[in-house]
Amino acid sequence: MSVTTEATTVTTIKHFINGTETAGDGTGTQPVYNPATGEVTANLSLASDADLQAAVAAARTAADAWGDTSLAKRTAVLFKFRELLAANTDELARIVTSEHGKVVSDAAGEIGRGLEVVEYACGISQSLKGEYSDQVSTGIDVFSFRQPLGVVAGITPFNFPVMVPLWMAPVAIAAGNAFILKPSERDPSAAVFLARIFKEAGLPDGVFQVLHGGKETVDGLLRHPDIDGISFVGSTPIAKYVHETATAHGKRVQALGGAKNHAVVMPDADMEVAADHLTAAAFGSAGQRCMAISVAVAVGGAADILVDKLVTRAHDIKVSNGLDDGADMGPVITPASKTRIEKIVGEAQEAGAALIVDGRDLVVADHENGFFVGPTIIDNVQREMTAYTEEIFGPVLAIVRVDTLAEAIEIVNANPYGNGTAIFTSNGADARTYTRRVHVGMVGVNVPLPVPVAWHSFGGWKNSLFGEHHIYGPDGVRFYTRGKAVTQRWPEHKELSNASFAFPSN
Ligand code: NAD
Repeated sequence: MSVTTEATTVTTIKHFINGTETAGDGTGTQPVYNPATGEVTANLSLASDADLQAAVAAARTAADAWGDTSLAKRTAVLFKFRELLAANTDELARIVTSEHGKVVSDAAGEIGRGLEVVEYACGISQSLKGEYSDQVSTGIDVFSFRQPLGVVAGITPFNFPVMVPLWMAPVAIAAGNAFILKPSERDPSAAVFLARIFKEAGLPDGVFQVLHGGKETVDGLLRHPDIDGISFVGSTPIAKYVHETATAHGKRVQALGGAKNHAVVMPDADMEVAADHLTAAAFGSAGQRCMAISVAVAVGGAADILVDKLVTRAHDIKVSNGLDDGADMGPVITPASKTRIEKIVGEAQEAGAALIVDGRDLVVADHENGFFVGPTIIDNVQREMTAYTEEIFGPVLAIVRVDTLAEAIEIVNANPYGNGTAIFTSNGADARTYTRRVHVGMVGVNVPLPVPVAWHSFGGWKNSLFGEHHIYGPDGVRFYTRGKAVTQRWPEHKELSNASFAFPSN
């Protein structure tokens, strides 16, 4: 894939350390691409160890003051941030599209889901309320409440450069922590934009910082003694590594990994609705969503009807630059990703699956250097094929045919991932059986992408999440705080304060 820098101004994307944009004393830079054109649009500053130390030191200082700041003042900043984020949605969405490739309405959609979490964080006072037990013993009361961890870092993937950081930072910050974001090096500009509007909203310097880099920077964060918690979202092997490494260094960790999401389609489902939703869920964002449906499990007579409808819809999808009017789907993130996806599709065909819609070799007019893969549907996929075992993370839908719901449940439960799943049916009893028996963290009933609203928490099971806590919502508050229980006695009961060797019982 040839890359041209002509016709594009190549800028430098900087870190945001202690309230200032800086290229640091960087170890170098790396190019950032527009995947729709294949052009290099910016050079990304990569953090040196000195940059990392500066960010952590600033966070440490900021965390003490911010954690002591009143809830009223903390939430006032979040309310202002919410206002600025909403007002800047269009501009931010275009930034996302130009580095990620997703269509601009989809980019605006992810900002909307991020806003939801900001709104949840604006109401954090309710979640931080403690508990009080009066007179547990004569003259003694006990109360418990939650306090911030201190300094936490978030390491995020390319596929949601706004939403995933906003799954973390608003809750962490509202709870009184300082937060260091290490965004994906593929589409890092959105993170810097968020830092600018946090500053404009009145957030003190050092409370939200952005540090760019790859493995070396991540390793520095995972091992740093002044970082108390790590939130990670990305692929499963890295999630596992992050969880193991950071817990070994004494940190609290939540590490969300990859996915292979199945939608079970029963013969009694409304097939028009199922086909519409599966098309959007499989090919939206070119399949680069952790909740994308990548496997349709068609039960009994559902298969032939469903497949026909899916094929028609796949042919109608307009693949183009995400900034173009009417585009349904943009490119994938890198040439390497395109090559990997096309290889897996070829392997399925060689192994005997039916390639009924082939999106390989798609060329988009005027975007010959873009990283495009067209919608692809593979029928009769078997469980040992790489099209089934691998997380493809591209616009590829595998169809697996089974005879019964029980068989469908067995397949989904045997899969090592457990992020999201859906069932399409008009039968309440089947829906209930499925939702109760399936070993997956988020389940949709006639809803293809069951991403919970911000006041429920988001998280998968099995290889889709390492750690005890789901992300955002009530679990997010628990993750970014720790409990403290206080047992108190005041002098009015001095006569009862005699120390005793016996365990107190009065
Ligand atoms: P990735 O794992 O390659 O990268 C994620 C982050 O880890 C990035 O910030 C990256 O710089 C860093 N990283 C990459 N390699 C590393 C290494 N060897 N050591 C330390 N850090 C490293 O993921 P990606 O390709 O950016 O994103 C796609 C993946 O994220 C998919 O697997 C997708 O399913 C997953 N994802 C999961 C969820 C979820 O909620 N479970 C949400 C979004 C994305």
